[in-house]
Amino acid sequence: MGQPITFHKADQLKAKPDSDHLGFGNFFTDYMFVMDYTADVGWHDARIVPYGPLELDPAAAIFHYGQEVFEGMKAYKAKDGRILLFRPDMNLKRLNHSCERLDIPKVDGDFVIKAIKKLVAVEKDWIPEKPGQSLYIRPFIIGTDAFLGVHPSTTYKLIIILSPVGAYFGDSVKPVSIYVEDEYVRAVRGGVGFAKTSGNYAASLRAQSKAEELGFDQVLWLDGVEHKYVEEVGSMNIFFKVGDEVWTPELNGSILPGVTRDSVIRLLKHWGVPVKERRISVKKLFKKAEKQELKEVFGTGTAAVISPVGFLKWEDRVIKVANGETGPLAKKLYETLTGLQTGEIKDKPGWTQEVKLKGSSKKVSEKASEVTPEPETPVAE
Ligand SMILES: *Cc1c(COP(=O)(O)O)cnc(C)c1O
Repeated sequence: MGQPITFHKADQLKAKPDSDHLGFGNFFTDYMFVMDYTADVGWHDARIVPYGPLELDPAAAIFHYGQEVFEGMKAYKAKDGRILLFRPDMNLKRLNHSCERLDIPKVDGDFVIKAIKKLVAVEKDWIPEKPGQSLYIRPFIIGTDAFLGVHPSTTYKLIIILSPVGAYFGDSVKPVSIYVEDEYVRAVRGGVGFAKTSGNYAASLRAQSKAEELGFDQVLWLDGVEHKYVEEVGSMNIFFKVGDEVWTPELNGSILPGVTRDSVIRLLKHWGVPVKERRISVKKLFKKAEKQELKEVFGTGTAAVISPVGFLKWEDRVIKVANGETGPLAKKLYETLTGLQTGEIKDKPGWTQEVKLKGSSKKVSEKASEVTPEPETPVAE
């Protein structure tokens, strides 16, 4: 908890990108956070250093056996100038669950949140301010032992990089078209589906390319055993408005427990909308669609927040949802969540945490010295 975070000044800062053409994940800030793990000392040498290439042994575990976990979250600039993080405690809890599954030593979640806040404070001028824009935060951990053997690494690096991003799907919330994948699967129960780990994505690439070749934006995964039940979309969880209820697949071990998913469920319940976390067969969904009972479909995830689905293709059938447009519930959820995230809506659930800027920004970014830890911000449960 008390370990210091040292700051190593960059010789030169980069030019900021044009905020009208950020896209997603194209640009990286001047600094990154790095911390090392060795079995004897544990996590140590927390430091903010100039962003740049890593030097790793070609035999490093990460290159051969994929021992990696990651997270994705965002910092938002509020209209009043405050910098806000959205439920970072949930991300750190999930990071540690992922670590457990990948046999990676856990981190002190509160300390890593403090490190994220420190890094974001240093890079505050990189947070874009237009609607839908934010500073994407990508913490990740890699196994670094130089050893060709299937064995958990004994050394690791935790690295946090930052990327100014625009709205995930361009300027407006545009409905996406989705291809229900019935050949490849993403994950099975007992595997690593619930963990945020790179291997899940490596296994998804071929199906994503196939969907694109067929003219669809994203893949909807079915369960790995029977290929009958809906799991999730690419990098999002999925929701269906059926009649007056909202359905989403239950967390069964092969689905990633999204922070946005959890927030959506809580908001819906608060609004009195019945939410069912259940097993959902794709057959039943198409039946509901035939009976005009499938009102809306949308994905949820940090990157896009809410992503309405306009078309669903399964085998040789295509259904058009909400007339191919954004439904009212998806719109309300998008506006509420982004309103909370950017401080425009009063944060009654206590989901945001402020990144405090200590003294003038000059002091933080120009002094090559130890950064003293700040008092703890209460962590929302
Ligand atoms: C990160 C991720 C999500 C969304 O999680 P959020 O915490 O809402 O960003 C959904 N599915 C997969 C596979 C993911 O990696």
